Amino acid sequence: MDGQTERIRARVSDLLCWYDAHRRPLPFRDDPTPYRVWVSEIMLQQTRIEAVLPRYEKFMHTLPSVAALAAVPDEQLLKLWEGLGYYSRARHLKQAANQIMERHGGALPADYAALRALAGIGDYTAGAIASIAFGIAVPAVDGNVLRVLARLLCYEEDVLSPRPRRYLSEIAASLVPNDRPGAFNEAMMELGETVCLPNGAPRCAACPFAAVCAARANSKAEALPVRLPKTTRRVERRTVFTVVTASPRRVLLHKRADKGLLAGLWELPNVEGDGANWADTLGLTVLTHERLADATHLFSHIEWKMSGVRLTVKPSAVPEEYVWADAASLQTEYALPSAFRAYAAPLTVWLKGE
Ligand code: SF4
Repeated sequence: MDGQTERIRARVSDLLCWYDAHRRPLPFRDDPTPYRVWVSEIMLQQTRIEAVLPRYEKFMHTLPSVAALAAVPDEQLLKLWEGLGYYSRARHLKQAANQIMERHGGALPADYAALRALAGIGDYTAGAIASIAFGIAVPAVDGNVLRVLARLLCYEEDVLSPRPRRYLSEIAASLVPNDRPGAFNEAMMELGETVCLPNGAPRCAACPFAAVCAARANSKAEALPVRLPKTTRRVERRTVFTVVTASPRRVLLHKRADKGLLAGLWELPNVEGDGANWADTLGLTVLTHERLADATHLFSHIEWKMSGVRLTVKPSAVPEEYVWADAASLQTEYALPSAFRAYAAPLTVWLKGE
């Protein structure tokens, strides 16, 4: 744990005192059974608390247990969910209720991994249920917590990217106290919702972390967290050819141009579109033609949606930017970019004659 994380950790007791004094009275906080916490957390995803409150009690009254939720007719469930939106959450709730009946005898499991394995339960929700309902010391990192942590650490990377998100989740995990993990997670979320407000409006004077907050010390609280706009990728539909000769076992590779995407690298031949006449343009004699699975690869600004085709052809001479490779040279000389991973793995096995 570095010095700044230590300083923050030393203030966790202040955060808990602040939370005890300022927590909003919410119905699911008064009686945090695992079932009540679970339903409330699912309802609160992407939905304002004001919209949840009137529906929550009615839901709990009508479906007071996992067994009742597992057995509810779909129509009645969707009626209870009316006004909350994102109906897939309701369907996942019922699906998970059935999983709990089958796997755990009708009681939510007191185990993070087992919770995480249920339908509709991701890292955040598993952490919230485990810590709030079962007192397990794991973090529950939502957008509020990411914002608070990014500011406390004056962390200037894009918090929506996977690696920074992982990093901040690890910091959160190192801060969770063993004695009150649920209160800590709720306090961090409450702080984000009521004090460390988004869009450049934190109320630092009311914050229990004010004395140790790095963003505040550097006058950067309003500029954090960094959220880069999602890049929109241009979609290219390409046909990727696995062209082989059966005897000897070889595959045809193509060398890309020296400039641009994957510059100068060897690849499985591929063209934009369906590539209907591609083999003819190369003078290949096709013996068999087989469709392979589709695959996708994301570059920073381009998304390849690939259709795979396997052609068995007669051995023949090919233009100089092409080469026939066997299993050994594919491994040592012509490493294929990861964009072709979906097709390269079975190909390597076949080349080796396995
Ligand atoms: Fe957020 Fe301000 Fe508290 Fe820092 S001091 S965590 S910026 S409210």
